[in-house]
Amino acid sequence: MKRNPYAHRPLSTSSQGIRQGIRWKLIFLTVILVLAVSKAGILLSSASWDAFQASGLALLKLIPRGDHGPATNENQSAEADGTLVPETGTAALTPADGPKLNDSPDLLERIIQVGQGDTIMGLLLQAGLVQAEAHAAVSALSQVYDPRDLRPGDELVLTFRAGGDKNGESFFEELKMQVDVDRKILVQRGDNKEFTALEEQWELQRVSSVAQGRIESSLYEAAVQSGLPKPVLLQMIRAYSFDVDFQRDIHPGDTFEVLFERQVDLEGRPVREGPVLYANLQTRGRSLKIYRYTALDGKTDFFNEKGQSVRKALMLTPIDGARISSGFGMRRHPILGFSRMHKGLDFAAPTGTPIMAAGDGVVVEAGRKGNFGITVVLRHPNEYRTLYAHMSRIARGVTPGVRVKQGQVIGYVGSTGMSTGPHLHYEVLYRGKHVNPASVVSPPGRTLAGKDLEQFKKLALELKGQYAALADKKLTQVQDGDQSVRLN
Ligand SMILES: [Zn+2]
Repeated sequence: MKRNPYAHRPLSTSSQGIRQGIRWKLIFLTVILVLAVSKAGILLSSASWDAFQASGLALLKLIPRGDHGPATNENQSAEADGTLVPETGTAALTPADGPKLNDSPDLLERIIQVGQGDTIMGLLLQAGLVQAEAHAAVSALSQVYDPRDLRPGDELVLTFRAGGDKNGESFFEELKMQVDVDRKILVQRGDNKEFTALEEQWELQRVSSVAQGRIESSLYEAAVQSGLPKPVLLQMIRAYSFDVDFQRDIHPGDTFEVLFERQVDLEGRPVREGPVLYANLQTRGRSLKIYRYTALDGKTDFFNEKGQSVRKALMLTPIDGARISSGFGMRRHPILGFSRMHKGLDFAAPTGTPIMAAGDGVVVEAGRKGNFGITVVLRHPNEYRTLYAHMSRIARGVTPGVRVKQGQVIGYVGSTGMSTGPHLHYEVLYRGKHVNPASVVSPPGRTLAGKDLEQFKKLALELKGQYAALADKKLTQVQDGDQSVRLN
């Protein structure tokens, strides 16, 4: 199956890859039918429309989906008529929020927007449910959804039976909520008057995309310019943080290329970014390629060309590398490397940038420490220690004796103690002696072998090929004329 990574809209529903497309098609057809009918001036049946008006619940929203075959034009012209309320800007909406045209004209839908401080219980009561009923509905809901996850902007779709007694049992029928881009929950009244909760999850279409750039002033800027989404950049940086000193190893003219996956909704809008599938960071003649591979035991990790996991006992850059102020642009604030005098590495980053534990370990110190200012010291296996100085503050829960995981945020960049500007001063000690963090050689977390290695090599070739094909296509499309970025 060939995927088109540039299909932002419209997506072809004929693609076999859109599995959920088939499932939703029926609903679309229904929507399209209504649009066609409304165009002809017959907006629902007058009987049910009256019921809506009378009930004061006439909040039925028709949400045109503009990407489904021949109905597209129909939709647009219908919008132009002003007969519809088009829903725009909310990427999370799916057909589930569209009009559910029940066979029975007695059923009315009301869409409630969640505001600041709202609770599901409160909203149900406001909507006219009696306490016991609202309580029963919420407790059924709790089996599939934590009501505390409710956020302003979420939508509840309530279904009522028209003409029901507001104090009676039969008034409220159903609660629907889309709780994620690919997940919907439903609380329904059963025949036995009890509420049951259901959840529905569907697969989003995955498309591959590429980005490539040349670093002029900072990696972050280059990444943004290349259209690399932030979550993808972060993941890439994390994977490289074991091998790359993002303060000193990045230079003007360095290049990167990334093949990543994104999940798109039915309108082709990206709703989830990542993961990185392949990346290549080229710094001064060093080419670091990483590949995402799921081993036969089901574990997924990034591996280098040799099939070695990029994961190491300690990170070389224990901070979000994207936020590091590039050393080459800075005159005022020299960023020192490791020397016997300096004993550590400095990373210049804005105050508040999260600092991560370089490896799994235990907190030995957390507090003020003379010229170091606010400092955390961690103890790691095999007689290593790491020190993080000049923090603006220590993360909550990081106190002596506490265990921390590699990558866990332990504090935030600041300029406390003897410091000329916000930066992290990072030291690694081995058996009590300062060592250059870049020289700490720790065995890779895992080296692929046998059948795994065989499969990995095949995948690596495939990913590189995929990258090259997509990058080629993008270059032709963009026609930016920048030939300096060489494509493999
Ligand atoms: Zn320093």
